[in-house]
Amino acid sequence: MKALRVYGKRDFRLEDVAEPSPRSGEVKVRVEYCGICGSELHDYVDGPSLLPVDKPHPQTGKLAPVIAGHEFSARVVELGAGVTGITVGDRVVVRPTMPCYRCRYCREGRYIQCAVLASIGGAADGAYAEYVVAREDCIYRLPDGVSYEAGAYAEPLACAVRAVRRSRMEPGAVVAVIGAGPIGLLTMQVAAACGARAVHVFETMPPRRELALRLGATTVTDPQAQEPGRHLAALTEGRRADVVFECAGTGPGLQLADTLCGRGGTILEMGVQRAPISFDFFALFIREKTIITSQGYCNDEFETAIAFISSGKVRVEPMTSARIALEDVLDEGFEALLGPRRSSHCKILVSPAA
Ligand SMILES: [Zn+2]
Ligand SMILES: [Zn+2]
Repeated sequence: MKALRVYGKRDFRLEDVAEPSPRSGEVKVRVEYCGICGSELHDYVDGPSLLPVDKPHPQTGKLAPVIAGHEFSARVVELGAGVTGITVGDRVVVRPTMPCYRCRYCREGRYIQCAVLASIGGAADGAYAEYVVAREDCIYRLPDGVSYEAGAYAEPLACAVRAVRRSRMEPGAVVAVIGAGPIGLLTMQVAAACGARAVHVFETMPPRRELALRLGATTVTDPQAQEPGRHLAALTEGRRADVVFECAGTGPGLQLADTLCGRGGTILEMGVQRAPISFDFFALFIREKTIITSQGYCNDEFETAIAFISSGKVRVEPMTSARIALEDVLDEGFEALLGPRRSSHCKILVSPAA
């Protein structure tokens, strides 16, 4: 089968590899849709962060190259020995995180902090391929009425669910979201579903502002067109935001978060930020603001994400800007999301079986 394997920075190769077969406790699935994730774009440009390059991963024993792709829906085609809860033909989504369930963090249910956490598409072969094998505990049945396309959003949506939970946002809160890419648009909707009174979105690209409005943003603002802090203050009788979700992952994004955050408020940092940034700590300190980070999700948050899609509280399909074949994943996928026309894109779904 064809697969997109990660070797290193700007070195992702479409290659022929052997089809995987499920070992005991594993399930083989045929991938329907796999979404291209912002974290993969970071990996592509700056070099992969989860790829075991020098020594094998302590849990999976895997060494580079690894097949990328972790936001996917699929159909079950084969069961390994001892798999009982799943049937061939089931429509599923796969949770890519693979906690060890043995370390002290796992025993406390803090699976995303697992000492030897592995993930499908990181240190185990992922879904830019026709077939994937996954542990049975990673498999979730798709509810009737949830399409494969929508199912591919469960993974990034789980990140949004965790972020809103970690922010300790209360019902009635005034929320600001920086960045209306996929993560920002999902977080905005989860915050609204969890009782935010207003969700103000700040985004430089006009098509993404329009999408945010379509998906329920209270207001959308170009932060470069006007002084965003004063603008938000005017919209909120001087209060600004109780919680700011920073989903852009840039140094200026974090500065903007401080500007938008009201006294005693919380900044929830979700954006991937590899380089050190300088930050006006005193402004934060004097107004008693809190910064909380959030990355990934625990198992129950993945279930909550599926329930949000199933109930219609979060709408994902309008975010799909293109569906492409695996052969085109680099040119029409990664390069399209990084190139000059990137503002016309939001989420690109790859269909390996097409
Ligand atoms: Zn992702
Ligand atoms: Zn663990």
